Amino acid sequence: MAKNNSRCSFCGREKRDTNMLIAGLEGHICDYCVTQAYNIVNEEQVSKKSKYPTTFKLLKPMEIKKHLDEYVIGQEEAKKVMSVSVYNHYKRINQIKSKNKEEIEIDKSNIILVGETGTGKTLLARTIARILNVPFCIADATVLTEAGYVGEDVESVLVRLLQVADYNIEAVEKGIVFIDEIDKIARKSDNPSITRDVSGEGVQQALLKLLEGSVVNVPPQGGRKHPEQKMIQINTQNILFMCGGAFDGIEKKIASRMRANVVGYGVKDREEIDKDNLIKYVTPQDLKSFGLIPELVGRLPVVTYLNSLDRDALRRILLEPKNSLIKQYVRLFEMDKITLTFDPAVFDYIVDKAIEFTIGARGLRSICEAIMMDAMYNLPSEEAASDVHITVEYAEEKLRKTNIERLKVA
Ligand code: ADP
Repeated sequence: MAKNNSRCSFCGREKRDTNMLIAGLEGHICDYCVTQAYNIVNEEQVSKKSKYPTTFKLLKPMEIKKHLDEYVIGQEEAKKVMSVSVYNHYKRINQIKSKNKEEIEIDKSNIILVGETGTGKTLLARTIARILNVPFCIADATVLTEAGYVGEDVESVLVRLLQVADYNIEAVEKGIVFIDEIDKIARKSDNPSITRDVSGEGVQQALLKLLEGSVVNVPPQGGRKHPEQKMIQINTQNILFMCGGAFDGIEKKIASRMRANVVGYGVKDREEIDKDNLIKYVTPQDLKSFGLIPELVGRLPVVTYLNSLDRDALRRILLEPKNSLIKQYVRLFEMDKITLTFDPAVFDYIVDKAIEFTIGARGLRSICEAIMMDAMYNLPSEEAASDVHITVEYAEEKLRKTNIERLKVA
């Protein structure tokens, strides 16, 4: 360790001005310079060995949708809308690269997904990113606050993308950011209150500059900006933002807008409205009524919705996706040379339980785990493990032993 009168040989700081001063053969280095040097090395190395290609094959909307179909059940409208806007977004990037001044400028197509929790919003965004092989991260809008307040600055969203992309800025600038729970930063009321709305409207304001495309200074290690940290500049012009939210109660806004609109039209128009699924009529106007500021809605021009999942959808989710839960269990057992089969009624039983416990698609996994746990624990150690067939009685027995409350939290 350094003597009391030592200085950092890089920045000249005295020991007392540092948190730590490390002695070398000929000199010293302080903790600030170690951090900076680490960041420089990281940036340099990463751009050389990136896992993300700098150019990518542009898939047509139908091809994108076909890939989405492999992982996401139902949600046809959302899949179609997203495929088109992602395709247009990456066409736009290619156009910018070609730098032809005569070209018509194409607007950015950030997307907003409206649908109950657990209906596949994040899954859609994640799958799109995987198809395109671009960096992807999920940010939670509820932890963000206006700069200077307790919470995270909006730039922290990009820190995650940087980390995912191993600090490869070129890849980051073509990445996809999914901002979850965007509805939770809705304006609390229409009346501007005396107290500042730092985690609602304030965050919406702060997000504008990220969404529209600008050069943002990002602290590479996250946390608050502080003068010692070397900032990384990220241009968000080509980063695709997808925002998701449950927008609880937006149906009321949709209904009242539609009621206002159908006045004066024939009864037939009114009859054709699918009253049980008003979410499919959601428009930017409804998002504004819900409490998103018009500027933010304007920067999220593509609005789409996700249906709630019924029994049939849940059953299909259990079985059909390329990496469906059941396929995963079969594969896990196969690795131990055990053939796993199910009585088809077991699938109905699992779905029934997910509905009964109101844990939706997300809960399917915990129910399956509870049913499969003993078999996964015992069979690999058995000398001559025979094949396994899961019956409804077996599933019932295993689930009975489980603490149901624990499943509900999942
Ligand atoms: P949300 O973002 O809408 O709250 P998620 O995308 O996180 O929901 O969904 C939670 C989980 O439920 C997913 O990881 C997936 O396993 C399953 N899931 C939900 N919806 C679907 C769907 N439409 N198709 C396939 N799996 C789904």
